Amino acid sequence: MSNLSTGVAIIGGGITGAAAAYRLSELGIVAEVHEAEALVGGRMARCEVAGALFDHGAQFFTTRGDKFRSLVQAAETEGATQVWTRGFGDNPDGFERWRGVPDMTALAAWLLDKSQARLHLGSAIRDLGELSASGIILTPPVPVSLSLAQSSGMEPPSTIKTQLQAVQYKRTIAVLLVLESSPKGMPVGGGIQLLDDKDLAFITDNNEKGVSSIPSLTIHLSNEASLDLWDEPDETVIGFANDKLSRWVEAADVTASSITRWRFAGPVDVVPESSVTWGHKPPLVVAGEAFNGPKVEGAFNSGIAAANQIAELVR
Ligand SMILES: Cc1cc2nc3c(=O)[nH]c(=O)nc-3n(C[C@H](O)[C@H](O)[C@H](O)COP(=O)(O)OP(=O)(O)OC[C@H]3O[C@@H](n4cnc5c(N)ncnc54)[C@H](O)[C@@H]3O)c2cc1C
Repeated sequence: MSNLSTGVAIIGGGITGAAAAYRLSELGIVAEVHEAEALVGGRMARCEVAGALFDHGAQFFTTRGDKFRSLVQAAETEGATQVWTRGFGDNPDGFERWRGVPDMTALAAWLLDKSQARLHLGSAIRDLGELSASGIILTPPVPVSLSLAQSSGMEPPSTIKTQLQAVQYKRTIAVLLVLESSPKGMPVGGGIQLLDDKDLAFITDNNEKGVSSIPSLTIHLSNEASLDLWDEPDETVIGFANDKLSRWVEAADVTASSITRWRFAGPVDVVPESSVTWGHKPPLVVAGEAFNGPKVEGAFNSGIAAANQIAELVR
């Protein structure tokens, strides 16, 4: 690897930022990754409630493209990923669904570790102008990235601004329950996907999945129910989830509970480009799951594209 530059800043240590850091490293560019939270992974998220651990954002990912698949398989050989299941329900389709090990944050952590990027945790960037960077890759959800660029005085040209302003996101409420004992009725593996249910979208037994040593359930409300209940008090939302849960799983003795409101669960429509760029001092590239393909693999691909693009611009 040749030493081209050390001046690229990446905002966000989710899968897009981690993929960008990895690719830049392949291109001989050492990035500075700024992550607002205390851990990487972004919406491939882990949290703790009363000692129990939860995957409370994305629950799994698929691998269709060669680059993503080969890296996920390389991570598997080092214990950072594994195939979680080959489908849900009575007639699994046989297609691999992967998970991070020990939890969903692990893939981003692995990619960042393999890159030569310098990682700054708890580094919430409020003004891009304060970064002495030759190029900047923005990976938060599009409205957050756009707002950060604008408040930093790095407004995009009107065509790009209009394109980015049009990106809308679905919401998901995650209800997190800590249980006294293991729930009854969960399938082997611990995942129930409810594609057509109007109330719930996904139920995960984090103990059966291998995330938590203490019994705990992650319940994702459907997009429709999440929107309806978004402003309701936590008790109302938890009561709703518990009530709907009983159709699928028997979960007695809830000892603690919590809620995550994911305002940016996933884009309604994706922008056709893999990433967009403007400016020149420094150039900005906006990337993420809203570009060219949604979900974890789409985010990964956008991160790779953003790295290729910024490498051309800062050479
Ligand atoms: C509830 C839920 C369920 C999902 N289920 C699935 C699923 O089953 N399968 C699937 O493939 N996908 C799923 N997804 C989507 C998937 O999680 C995302 O597509 C993917 O994780 C997006 O990654 P990203 O890196 O683009 O963004 P993010 O993961 O959001 O990363 C952006 C990062 O930027 C950081 N950040 C923001 N602002 C700043 C700032 N000012 N300074 C520094 N850092 C900042 C954030 O803290 C975050 O870590 C789900 C998402 C949610 C929320």
